[in-house]
Amino acid sequence: MRAAERVEEARRCIERAHRVAVLTGAGISAASGIPTFRGPGGLWEGVRPEELATPEAYARDPQRVWSWYAWRYRLAYQARPNRAHELLVQLERDKGDGFLLVTQNVDGLHARAGSQRLVELHGSLHRARCEACQHRFPLPPPETFMPPPRCPRCGSRARPDVVWFGELVPGRAYQRAAEAFRTAEVALVVGTSAVVEPAASLGRLARLGGAYLVEVNPEQTPLTPLAHLSLRCGAEEGLEPLIGPRAPGTA
Ligand code: NAD
Ligand code: ZN
Repeated sequence: MRAAERVEEARRCIERAHRVAVLTGAGISAASGIPTFRGPGGLWEGVRPEELATPEAYARDPQRVWSWYAWRYRLAYQARPNRAHELLVQLERDKGDGFLLVTQNVDGLHARAGSQRLVELHGSLHRARCEACQHRFPLPPPETFMPPPRCPRCGSRARPDVVWFGELVPGRAYQRAAEAFRTAEVALVVGTSAVVEPAASLGRLARLGGAYLVEVNPEQTPLTPLAHLSLRCGAEEGLEPLIGPRAPGTA
């Protein structure tokens, strides 16, 4: 089959499906100016994320870890959702309760675009969590934000409300995600290197459940061999022909 026909086939599968599950990673926000971890431009002062996004790094030097998060928070705050985020909002409107968007991103751009059936598996840059009482609260705007923040309830130091390497994704969030992928007729995996667990398993779970699996990523990933269609391109460019409005005059 030619490439255009395979895209058309995937498009029809998505149109017909009642249950659609979507997994996104850092790549979907690249066009909004937010760097990915893996790939060019993903570094901060030459430091690998694995050296900062861990409980050990935070225990050693909370100020340094908070500086990195404050920088990422400012970037996310100033960024705007792109066409790919918007197309997923449209897809949710079409599918209603049969839709779930699961993201590894912590930038908040899916919510800002208007996605509602949304699981943020790894938390959010826009919030902190009290180390003593676990209260979660939004950060003030970046202009006035002085890390580390203090809990408004008990005054203790608070940490970024994100899941670090070596920590578990909250069980309820993962259950909801896993259920959606297990029962999906179509699963879309966009802009994730698919190496971070447990999110990486969601694609496999969908495939085991009989879903039609579509991947959009400029690079190959461990999921590529499992996908029915794997588009080697950016998220905006890949999602437009799959779920964007049809050109007038085409069926
Ligand atoms: P990753 O950095 O490991 O991988 C990014 C992937 O995106 C790569 O496979 C790359 O080929 C692909 N990519 C690059 N440009 C793209 C584009 N324009 N369109 C589509 N794909 C593109 O990110 P990950 O897989 O999401 O996982 C790593 C962890 O990084 C997660 O835990 C996540 O919380 C965190 N993270 C989040 C953000 C964010 O919130 N925007 C940014 C960086 C990292
Ligand atoms: Zn507290």
